[in-house]
Amino acid sequence: MTLDRPEHYPFKDVEARWQRAWETSGLFRVREEPPRAKYYCLEMFPYPSGRIHMGHVRNYAIGDVVTRYKRMRGYNVLHPMGWDAFGLPAENAAIEHGVHPAVWTYENIATMKAQMKKLGISYDWEREIATCDPEYYRWEQLIFVRMFERGLAYRKAGTVNWCPGCQTVLANEQVEAGRCWRCDSEVRQEEVEGWYFKITAYAEELLAWCDRLTGWPERVLTMQRNWIGKSEGAEFDLPIARPDGRRAGSGIRVFTTRADTVFGMTFAVLAPEHPVVDDLVAGDEERAAVARFRAEVARETEIERLAADRPKRGIRLAARAMNPFTDQEIPLFIADYVLMGYGTGAIMAVPGEDQRDWDFAKAHDLPIVETVERPRGFDGEAYAGDGVKINSGFLNGLSIPEAKRRVVDWLVARGLGDAKVNYRLRDWGISRQRYWGAPIPIVYCAICGMVPERPENLPVVLPRDVQITGKGGSPLADVPGFVNTRCPRCGGPGRRETDTMDTFVESSWYFLRYCSAKYTGGMVDPAAAGYWMPVDQYIGGIEHAILHLLYARFYTKVLRDMGLVKVDEPFENLLTQGMVIKDGAKMSKSRGNVVDPDELIATYGADTARLFSLFAAPPEKDLDWSEQGVEGAFRFLNRVWRFVEAHGDALRETPPREAGTLSELGRAFRRTIHATIQRVTNDIEDRFHFNTAISAIHELVNALYAFAGESEDRVAQEERRVLLREAVETALLLLAPFAPHLAEELWAQLGHRESLFREPWPTADARALERESVQVVVQVDGRVRTRLTVRPDTGEESLRSQALADGRVKPWLRAREVERVVVVPGRLVNIVTRGTPAGGGAA
Ligand SMILES: [Zn+2]
Ligand SMILES: [Zn+2]
Repeated sequence: MTLDRPEHYPFKDVEARWQRAWETSGLFRVREEPPRAKYYCLEMFPYPSGRIHMGHVRNYAIGDVVTRYKRMRGYNVLHPMGWDAFGLPAENAAIEHGVHPAVWTYENIATMKAQMKKLGISYDWEREIATCDPEYYRWEQLIFVRMFERGLAYRKAGTVNWCPGCQTVLANEQVEAGRCWRCDSEVRQEEVEGWYFKITAYAEELLAWCDRLTGWPERVLTMQRNWIGKSEGAEFDLPIARPDGRRAGSGIRVFTTRADTVFGMTFAVLAPEHPVVDDLVAGDEERAAVARFRAEVARETEIERLAADRPKRGIRLAARAMNPFTDQEIPLFIADYVLMGYGTGAIMAVPGEDQRDWDFAKAHDLPIVETVERPRGFDGEAYAGDGVKINSGFLNGLSIPEAKRRVVDWLVARGLGDAKVNYRLRDWGISRQRYWGAPIPIVYCAICGMVPERPENLPVVLPRDVQITGKGGSPLADVPGFVNTRCPRCGGPGRRETDTMDTFVESSWYFLRYCSAKYTGGMVDPAAAGYWMPVDQYIGGIEHAILHLLYARFYTKVLRDMGLVKVDEPFENLLTQGMVIKDGAKMSKSRGNVVDPDELIATYGADTARLFSLFAAPPEKDLDWSEQGVEGAFRFLNRVWRFVEAHGDALRETPPREAGTLSELGRAFRRTIHATIQRVTNDIEDRFHFNTAISAIHELVNALYAFAGESEDRVAQEERRVLLREAVETALLLLAPFAPHLAEELWAQLGHRESLFREPWPTADARALERESVQVVVQVDGRVRTRLTVRPDTGEESLRSQALADGRVKPWLRAREVERVVVVPGRLVNIVTRGTPAGGGAA
């Protein structure tokens, strides 16, 4: 990047001046103004890691276009920004550099805020929040208490994902291909006690609403549906015979989505971790074999265990199961492909109709019974398709759905089982054994047990004075002044919970806090939330498609059920922007292909940085960084600037006014102006196609230069001036959301006193768009013979007779019979003939 640019417009001065002016005038500060229509535009708030990167620039530039555009369309637009300020990097910085996480975080916030301001994004900074502020998390703690009272927050021991790198528990959503989403360490399964949010209580509603979120990308909804993973089936008990022949308790509960296949159950499988296994093994030898197998499986990730294309390993137990439908004993296994976390941790295996069971049966030489008639020519292995039931006792001849119903009836009649809906979704583990997070407001009392903190004692403030080593459990456990407290119920001695909350809890409701960021009466002022919610447009990366978006939806529903908000869903429309790519890879420090936005702004200005990132690709696609692209954006802005500079006096002396009768050139030019308004408006409204909108503005500027260069005998001076003024003003208004500083400056240079952002968005003049004549192609037998110049509304009959009577058509019709005439008004007449042409040659 070269720092000494050739001749260019003074962007440094222009941008700094307008940023100050917007701030001083409070242009982007908003208040609730019912009944005025509102629009809430939100970009996902950043983690204050230190500096903003190009991905941020793109994210915020997209949001800023939407905001400024909607503002000019007359909406009262809320556009806030804040900081997702808790989290591990702050603690790691403390360990590495000895700086307190709070100091590190707030310094980073200051740096990044200054960077954002240099970009000129239209935020209402009075609503800024930082989630590490006790005034923020106190409300989260209050909601935790309310959730605890409702049984939606609870403590349990469970197998969790443990990241040895971060020394903390991770939610399922934070494990990617067996690795920590943040530090990439291999995640281990460990037994840990901790706090959970009962998101499963909302599984059905979260799923059902996926069908109603019509403003979300289908891809994101599919990911959410799969994550919730609803399956409908039957659950029942399999009787178990111990090695000595005795019956074991009530049996083992299995879940199946294919209850119709029960007669094909030739073996049963337990997850190795299933607690009943310990009770079933007999003798030291089997006990040792099971222990060895469990140790092997514990080293595999869930993803590996569920993979379809790997050998399924298992060992056969001495105990046997009974198929209650055939009354026969069947072998019982423990195998890696059955997981404790799904269904009941036990399955009936039906190798005839399930491929994984088929693979396992083949590997262990087990019988395979087909219970669905195969279609003719089927030569596969397990058959998962439709068909009539066979080899299935009382189910023979039935369809699969009917057989499923009969099996459930049979189970219910005998008290063995029932229909059952299962979800893949697990409860959300929110305990983190780390320091830099919101304390969980629970006190342990020897007499009362777990007691939530009293609301009037909130917030439970995170103490500043701690030793952060990154080793062992929570650093809070070593702070006696924090741990030792009074029981909120009996007043006796109590110990505080030392786990902190997952930072995804803070990001599950920050959009609500923006509605009334300084409200002290509760989490959110009901009137403010009632006015602003839901978020009309949410913009962020696809990497949040499951994690953050599902949690935020869940939390919103919890708050709705507590009467705090009235909306069912937080985000009406979602845009997932693509990545910023350079040299074929995502920009990252480790690859060394990072472009620093500060440097870019210093060299070319914020408007160029914004325009480039909006023009190079539609927002949902990846953006390929190119120096030429940046140069191109910069040249374009200079071209706009130079035009106003060159024609400034003439433009200023010609206030906007209605153009009188226009020349033909003038009419065509005015049509271009208004067609551009129409194109840009449609491109923004219709899925934010900013790149094509900017192309249209490019064309308008080209037309400006061309029209200004027309000679005076073709366009009268007065007409030229009036139209140039109209065109320049239109171009600036259309450009304003994309390059706001330049547009605002040139607007002022035209003599306007008020901010351009208080102007309404231009509307296309329908009369200007009308064409006075159109050219209609006339073909004879598919070949173009002439063109008719007609009024655009000329009807079919008239076009037909004009075409047939045309002097250049008639010779081609000699000695031929007209078979039919096809007319497409405004475009085409095709005359189809029959017979031999006099001169030959026609098809
Ligand atoms: Zn980690
Ligand atoms: Zn007590």
